[in-house]
Amino acid sequence: MAREATADVCAVDGCGNPAARSLSANRVKQALPELKLGTTGRRAHLCRQHYREFRKKTKEDRELERAAW
Ligand SMILES: [Zn+2]
Repeated sequence: MAREATADVCAVDGCGNPAARSLSANRVKQALPELKLGTTGRRAHLCRQHYREFRKKTKEDRELERAAW
């Protein structure tokens, strides 16, 4: 088997896309509680698509926080 590198795979259960970003697993769980993460440890690798969702959610959170002032 020829593998280019030890490519990380998205931590979301059932996704399986190549990981684009490594994030804190806790933050991912907070931002996307509806997603099921596989066994990740402290870091969760996310593919581009899920990272985008994560950013969207965290942005919303931040805006909500700001609006609460
Ligand atoms: Zn994914």
